Amino acid sequence: MGAIVAIVGRPNVGKSTFFNRLIQRREAIVDSVSGVTRDRHYGKSDWNGKEFSLIDTGGYVVGSDDIFEQEIDKQVELAIDEADAIIFMVDVESGVTGMDEDVAKLLRRVNKPVFLAVNKVDNAQRHADAVEFYALGLGDYYALSSINGSGTGELLDAVVKELPELEEVESELPRFAVVGRPNAGKSSFINALIGEDRYIVTDIAGTTRDSIDTKYNRFGFEFNLVDTAGIRRKSKVKEDLEFYSVMRSVRAIEHADVCILLLDASRGFDGQVQNIFWLAQRNNKGIVILVNKWDLVEKETNSVRDYTAKIKEAIAPFDDVPIIFISVLNKQRIFKAIETAVDVYKNRSKKIATRKLNDIMLPIIEHTPPPAYKGKFVKIKFCTQLPTPYPQFAFFCNLPQYVRDPYKRFLENKLRDNFDFSGVPITIFMRKK
Ligand code: GDP
Ligand code: GDP
Repeated sequence: MGAIVAIVGRPNVGKSTFFNRLIQRREAIVDSVSGVTRDRHYGKSDWNGKEFSLIDTGGYVVGSDDIFEQEIDKQVELAIDEADAIIFMVDVESGVTGMDEDVAKLLRRVNKPVFLAVNKVDNAQRHADAVEFYALGLGDYYALSSINGSGTGELLDAVVKELPELEEVESELPRFAVVGRPNAGKSSFINALIGEDRYIVTDIAGTTRDSIDTKYNRFGFEFNLVDTAGIRRKSKVKEDLEFYSVMRSVRAIEHADVCILLLDASRGFDGQVQNIFWLAQRNNKGIVILVNKWDLVEKETNSVRDYTAKIKEAIAPFDDVPIIFISVLNKQRIFKAIETAVDVYKNRSKKIATRKLNDIMLPIIEHTPPPAYKGKFVKIKFCTQLPTPYPQFAFFCNLPQYVRDPYKRFLENKLRDNFDFSGVPITIFMRKK
């Protein structure tokens, strides 16, 4: 799994500029907790073939200098707790400030790799000016310009060299990650399963310090249950917990086969839950949605139907996803939830024989061919499932570029109607033949 690199430093030194330079795929997490809107970002990057997640911890609070300082302390503390390496960014234009000195003091005590990055070194004069940052007592610094990119390569060379090789305990077993917002009931869910169940085989240390894997055996089927909530952090601050729980979910999702997404029924399928859902979908993971704490909801005849409809509306067009209403507290349907996750896993690894696929799909296509495009007729000749870890299908035709998204969705829906792909994203390619 990728290591985490955090960027800390006071506002305006150029953290976001640096961040944006490095990140290929950006996942914005905007927290809005306790009236303070914080715009923090993380994203994936890789350098010299080593992948890592970069966090711009720059939680920005508008307020007095006091609040400001506390905020920076918190930022640094979090980076110290959570990151594998820390980039401390300062600004050559302003020179060493009191706040820089405070941060440096915290960082001098850390036994994680710390890299002092002197930013805005855009020209030779500024190179000379940068030496004043030796005064921070952090040793050598890296002079760079986030705006034009100079010096960033040297910094990254040094950073990735220090990143731990997070060994992956490669397991043949399917991995089910239990994800969701804090307090959704993830730990309770896992504890309920473990406590109740004599089929538990072993507890093994997680592949990273971010998760705990439990080897589990049920319905004649063995899998690893990945608990992202199992490790409680000492961070006391609510919004930070939220942020880092999403980070942990991200990593767990990337390495899972199926994501068991728990939400608190009384809070609903809100934006943060949707973030997690789309992350799983974009990563082509199997998904089961568990609406937990159903005991707290005042129920009427159509409650389940209405709640389901609301979720489906939010996740359209990918709404072929199992949604189960559970109460961990009352041990209601928790095994049904696991059974469904197993089904989703099987759907995701299912391979449909080409012959069978064509027997079903070609008549459908013949009956409803792709609409003519710019006066040209598309003729689909056959299709096949690709030998990938999750379902991808290729449809071979004369003019693949003329098949538009609505028709691809039509094909996807027909695949779903005829073969059970519940909970599993499907990709469709049109190929030239
Ligand atoms: P953050 O608050 O630390 O995230 O800082 P930003 O990335 O928002 O940058 C603050 C300001 O510094 C912006 O106006 C940037 O354009 C500018 N800036 C960032 N990097 C450089 C640089 O390498 N050279 C110069 N001259 N300006 C920079
Ligand atoms: P996590 O942060 O997602 O691991 O959530 P926890 O498992 O720590 O649960 C958060 C809180 O929700 C705890 O106080 C649990 O007792 C409570 N909780 C969990 N499941 C249920 C449930 O089904 N019904 C109710 N009423 N409370 C629940």
